[in-house]
Amino acid sequence: MLDVVIIGSGPAGLCAAIYARRAGLSAVTIEKSPMSGGQILNTYEVDNYPGLPGSNGFDMGMKFREHADKLGCEFMTASVLEIRRDCAQEAELRAASMEEGCGGTKDSFAVETDEGLLHARAVVAATGASHAKLNIPGEEAFAGRGVSYCATCDGAFFRGKTTAVIGGGDVAVEDAIFLARACRKVYLIHRRDELRAARILQDQVMSLPNVEILWDTVAEEIAGEESVKSLALKNVKTGGKKRLDVDGVFVAVGIVPESGLFRTLADCDEKGYVIADEDTVTSLPGFFAAGDIRTKKLRQIITAAADGANAITSVQEYLLNFKLKSQ
Ligand code: NAP
Repeated sequence: MLDVVIIGSGPAGLCAAIYARRAGLSAVTIEKSPMSGGQILNTYEVDNYPGLPGSNGFDMGMKFREHADKLGCEFMTASVLEIRRDCAQEAELRAASMEEGCGGTKDSFAVETDEGLLHARAVVAATGASHAKLNIPGEEAFAGRGVSYCATCDGAFFRGKTTAVIGGGDVAVEDAIFLARACRKVYLIHRRDELRAARILQDQVMSLPNVEILWDTVAEEIAGEESVKSLALKNVKTGGKKRLDVDGVFVAVGIVPESGLFRTLADCDEKGYVIADEDTVTSLPGFFAAGDIRTKKLRQIITAAADGANAITSVQEYLLNFKLKSQ
């Protein structure tokens, strides 16, 4: 029986792994792919993490991972299929007192993966978030044929071409800045008349001669033949419609939490974020939510990393209470 299973190896999961190791807990961090880092792997520049100005997101993710490896943190590459209250294990551990059929205290978890079953006293969910979709005609049909959700991954295919970025947050503006280096022209299409992105990014994007911002504008359709050729746009203030010729569309309209596995375990809000405060404590004892997956105001690398640390502090408290209870 492990003390804790950590699911996810972005900044929150890696930080939890480091703190768990330093706390002497038996812990395994499950990651879907062996490339730790989560969303930061696709961030070309991170300039708001103290001490590491102008970092490249990929290198930063690798550094976090190297740190965890150096301390001897244990990783497992697998997909989690299900998390259950661990009836069988509890029955074994408490054979004398446990009620039949998992009716007892159920103080541990079974984490089923495609690489085997793990048993743990506590679980830290740090699975992060993925790209939100626009859900407009053509988006799905042209995915990978001109529609992308990752400028750093696919931007190189659009050298000398015209692209559009849809969104007004940090990611959209960062993407537009990144694409402007290689593309002939970049349109930044935002549904309001004010960007949500950090001021420093706004100033940067507005200074670029080959970036044009289309305000109060939404995309209604992505069209093309073999690949993307144009976008159908609508001005939400005037109702005016127009077609814009583009070779690529980068969708950056926010994130959705990767919480599908946890929605029946712990309370989530209407968007699917697991409800938890800074202490990462959820509605289910022993189950903690860290990083972008939990309800919070600011989703950044530094707040995700802080969550990892807080999660392990909460796990330690939980394990201590558990020990006291079972004495
Ligand atoms: P975000 O901050 O939620 O911004 C999403 C943007 O997309 C908003 O401007 C929103 O418009 C727009 N939008 C949403 N749905 C739309 C739709 N259906 N059609 C058109 N536009 C739509 O998301 P994000 O930029 O992906 O960033 C995600 C999180 O990561 C944020 O918390 C961000 O701060 C963080 N982040 C941090 C860093 C960093 O620390 N360096 C870097 C990147 C991202 P409205 O503005 O009108 O709502």
